[in-house]
Amino acid sequence: MRRCQIVAWGAPLEMREYPTPRPQGTEVLLRVTAAGVCHSDLHIHRGHFDLGGGRRLRFEERGIRLPFTMGHEVAGEVVELGPEAPRDRVVPGREYVVHPWIGCGRCRTCAQGVEHHCPQPRFIGTVVDGGYGDFLIVPHPRYLVPFDGLPRELACTFACSGVTAWNALRKVRDLDRPLLLLGVGGVGGAALAMSRLLVEVPVAVADVAADKRARALEAGAVAAFDPADPGAARAVREWSEGGVGAVIDFVGRPETVAFALDCLVPKGGTVVVVGLHGDRLELPVPFLPLRALTLRGSYVGGLDDLRAVIDHARAGRIPPIPVTPRPLEEANAALADLAAGRVAGRQVLIP
Ligand SMILES: [Zn+2]
Ligand SMILES: [Zn+2]
Repeated sequence: MRRCQIVAWGAPLEMREYPTPRPQGTEVLLRVTAAGVCHSDLHIHRGHFDLGGGRRLRFEERGIRLPFTMGHEVAGEVVELGPEAPRDRVVPGREYVVHPWIGCGRCRTCAQGVEHHCPQPRFIGTVVDGGYGDFLIVPHPRYLVPFDGLPRELACTFACSGVTAWNALRKVRDLDRPLLLLGVGGVGGAALAMSRLLVEVPVAVADVAADKRARALEAGAVAAFDPADPGAARAVREWSEGGVGAVIDFVGRPETVAFALDCLVPKGGTVVVVGLHGDRLELPVPFLPLRALTLRGSYVGGLDDLRAVIDHARAGRIPPIPVTPRPLEEANAALADLAAGRVAGRQVLIP
């Protein structure tokens, strides 16, 4: 089988040949049919997150060894089940989306059903080898979700983009004031598409890109703002009659969090940071108590989130995001196009 791999941090991916693995224990072997290219793949490829002040969070220090195969938004056809895999959950020959946010399966966090918060994760495509290849091993059939009726190129994107958007929206579902989505590219755009299923308040967007603002308005955003405009935060406060109740920041930079804080209601507002662009935040500490602020993060989502998103999509309740299929051989070009901001929606690699 082929794997398109990181062989040196930041260097072009290389296609390498490996023996096709046989599933052991409860494992399942899938033939990959689609693998989405996520923005976080750019960080993984580079080998670190930028922590600001010259500091970096290196994947190598978290135990990720090269060569490494990215790809955490994977759809695939079941080829073979390991000898101990339950036979009643999946059918060989049928296609499934892989839930990649898999924990150790032994800790208290995993037992509580929040495997995506497990301190010893086995995340597919970010910790263990992922879907930029012909085949993929998944530890157990329970991580496979059927998506009959949906295009595989769209269905695979629900594994990260979809669950990340869904889980972040769940954190603000009790809002009684408007919501602002900051950054409406892949994940932010998915959140906008799903927002009506989880929040009842008006939803506005902010993005520096005029084409993304225009698309968001077509997709149902009530208002769209350009954060590069110096009057934008005031305009958001006026539009929302005193400030939005929450902002979900899909960019995750100091200036976007600062903008989010400026857009919020004076007291009791929430900022949820999802984006991983990096650098460090300077925040006057008294703002936390004086403004009764909630500043929280949200990272991917759980198996229940993936099932919910796929159910809603199959029922036609989530408008599809644009997807661009490309052959696996074009993985390097796909990463370059994503880094250069030339991608609308999601690129999906087809082995
Ligand atoms: Zn992702
Ligand atoms: Zn665990």
